[in-house]
Amino acid sequence: MTALNATHDPKLRSWVASANEAGTDFPIQNLPFGRFRAAGSQEAFRIGVAIGDQVLDLKAAGLVDTDDMNALMSVSVKDRQALRASISAGLAEGSDKQAAWSKALLAQAAAEMTVPCRIGDYTDFYTGIHHATTIGKLFRPDQPLMPNYKWVPIGYHGRASSIRVSGQVFKRPQGQTKAPDAAEPSFGPSKRLDYELELGFVVARGNALGEPIAIGEAEDHLFGVTLLNDWSARDVQAWEYQPLGPFLSKSFASTLSPWIVTTEALAPFRAKFERPAGDPQPLPYLDSAANRESGALDITLEVLLQTAKMRAAGEAPARLTRGNTTEAAYWTAAQLIAHHTVNGCNLQPGDLLGSGTLSGPKPDEAGSLIELTQGGKQPITLPNGEKRAFLEDGDTLVIRGYCERAGAVRIGLGEVSGTVV
Ligand code: MN
Repeated sequence: MTALNATHDPKLRSWVASANEAGTDFPIQNLPFGRFRAAGSQEAFRIGVAIGDQVLDLKAAGLVDTDDMNALMSVSVKDRQALRASISAGLAEGSDKQAAWSKALLAQAAAEMTVPCRIGDYTDFYTGIHHATTIGKLFRPDQPLMPNYKWVPIGYHGRASSIRVSGQVFKRPQGQTKAPDAAEPSFGPSKRLDYELELGFVVARGNALGEPIAIGEAEDHLFGVTLLNDWSARDVQAWEYQPLGPFLSKSFASTLSPWIVTTEALAPFRAKFERPAGDPQPLPYLDSAANRESGALDITLEVLLQTAKMRAAGEAPARLTRGNTTEAAYWTAAQLIAHHTVNGCNLQPGDLLGSGTLSGPKPDEAGSLIELTQGGKQPITLPNGEKRAFLEDGDTLVIRGYCERAGAVRIGLGEVSGTVV
């Protein structure tokens, strides 16, 4: 696990004034990576770091000589840390880089972002035990949690080609669905379109085929964390998911936040990984003292919904839920990496591992509509009186995430939004 260093110093301030404002997601202690270009241009996307309401162009600042984020992410941990230290020092108040780097800044409002790296493979896990239990009760009242759940980090191979950056607009998917009382399936637009509140873990260096990553080294292979919305067509999913898991119910769209908050930036916001008394302890390949001590992440996550009617009336998105990752996740990122590779499977730079839906223990901390509405039976009422069992056309879903702790400067993960049409 990354130790605290000078880049986390709460007293550190930046010559970029907006980075010092209370409540900013991107103070100098954060420094997340993304890919951007001037909005409206056809330039190639370049690597940037968010600072306040600006983006620092790393190439223009003379910090890197590549536009390839995957190459940048695959360097050694030592080189990653050295790059962060250089960025931090150059953006700090009083730095002699200010004059030169001022010319390498672009306002985020004037930037177009893309997915932060090339995503070769996408695996979605199922680490949210409260989500798994609630969903399990809806599908299998007699056995909500499958017997493997507390032993194996459950996952499936998702679709990388349909992952887009925040702002994604996508068409409601069509597919086969079958009502429980129907004799045969029917075909048409999904009537039970849902979101999933997730974190996306981005792989830094990969491993050679046949060479597992031990849990002790797993975080060296983790570049950082994004917000992920794993849109899900529940009616398609219910009909197709057995016996091989979700397929077309998930592969039509997934939306990612533009900034990868690095593992190093998250160092002040680690938490103990603990199993409830009576639960099985992880097998040795999924267990380490460091993972128990600080394997979990302390991130607050919020979900907001803005309907077309709210947007037309100029009303802000309404919050549906707020919860914390430490209560939601049954497995840590290090365990997911160790498990993914234990059979010899090779991860590659830029691979994306979804956490699974991160629902808290309380009903109002649920990370999907199927949980919030009891499978659609109890629609929620929005502040303007509209009701939702599942998403309607024109709905925009927003996920935000941030870390707050005494003794540390608040950092944010930004947001991921997407709209169904
Ligand atoms: Mn998911």
